[in-house]
Amino acid sequence: MPRFDPQAAPAAPHSDAKRRLADAVQANRAEILDLSQRIHANPEPAFEERQASAWVAESLRRHGFEVELPAGSLETAVRGRLRGGRGGAKGPGPRIGVLAEYDALPGLGHGCGHNTMAASGVGAAIALSTLASELPGEIVFLGCPAEERGSGKQRMIDDGLFEGLDAALLYHPCDRNHVDSVALASEDVEVLFTGRQAHAASDPWKGLNALDALILLFNGVALWRQQLRPSSRVHGIVQEGGTAANIIPDRAKAWFMIRSDDRAYYETMRTRFVEIAEGAARQAGVSVEIAFTGGATTMNTNDALARRWIANAEAYGVIDQGPDPFAGSTDMGNVSWVVPTIHPDLAIVATTTPGHSIAFRDAAAEPLADETTLLAATLVAQTAYDLYADPSLIEAAWADFRATAGAAPELPGTHRS
Ligand SMILES: [Zn+2]
Repeated sequence: MPRFDPQAAPAAPHSDAKRRLADAVQANRAEILDLSQRIHANPEPAFEERQASAWVAESLRRHGFEVELPAGSLETAVRGRLRGGRGGAKGPGPRIGVLAEYDALPGLGHGCGHNTMAASGVGAAIALSTLASELPGEIVFLGCPAEERGSGKQRMIDDGLFEGLDAALLYHPCDRNHVDSVALASEDVEVLFTGRQAHAASDPWKGLNALDALILLFNGVALWRQQLRPSSRVHGIVQEGGTAANIIPDRAKAWFMIRSDDRAYYETMRTRFVEIAEGAARQAGVSVEIAFTGGATTMNTNDALARRWIANAEAYGVIDQGPDPFAGSTDMGNVSWVVPTIHPDLAIVATTTPGHSIAFRDAAAEPLADETTLLAATLVAQTAYDLYADPSLIEAAWADFRATAGAAPELPGTHRS
């Protein structure tokens, strides 16, 4: 596993400003790491990140940001803004988005390490605030709820919180170091079967068994999976399967996710999933309701921003290992189609550690994760600084964006069935 020490002297010479940003992260390390550890110890699932969002807001206020909580329609979304002191004659100057996440996984805690994302985003914002008097434009911090479920960032896009941004930067913890990633389009699917209760021994023929339909759905999906393309996924859990063995279940519920790296193929998967669920309902003689929510899109990594990130990371000896071929999904994909975006990963664990596991959760509070959090804060701040300092980089980022945005996928989750 690549190991790095953000306190070590960078391998390549840094500008004075970048050195000062790195020093500012170190000067505030106690506050940044305390935030990471507190959020890790108090995990809150999607849309319920009340403590985390309050702590993030408090920290930003302490460092001079004008803070909105809630920001937009989500109770736990945060926006912090700080204007640079160097106004430009040509206009207000760049607005660089420094993002953070803080939701946990139900029953697991911070198995995705989002505590390190909250802390590094705040850390980057704090570092940039120390140079605010020298910067043009505005530092825009966005605390984004509900990445694990529900696509909070799409809600924030709909709320207009990404309007006017010139770039969006967000680090994610991983078992490798890479700036580009192959995110899969995905949606959550809730399937509810409704039948009729009856005594399971004395008059079962009077019942309609919703659990039978649920079992048929899982079997149908299991057989279908063999025919799916390798870059597609379908997986689910049982949420409700009856309340007692002697009652024919009148209600059974499952939560699935379907995913693919190909938008057109994804649509065929969606249609087939609905057919399998409806077929299962018909076989059991029950009714079914299917609800798609929380669409995430594929990722459009911005080349110009990615090059800056890689150069800044290499100064600390962190070498990009190329895109992770085993991708999940993220609503950062949605952001990547509305503003130039990077969503780089940095390692907090060995490559043998699975994500969304107890091992990854525990690692997210270990000293290596802390050091990675500080490095991520430093690299986000330095990459943002590059954009404030050199307007041609923003032009290049938007040129890359325009060259790729024509391929913007229709957002999943915008229709229901
Ligand atoms: Zn995550």
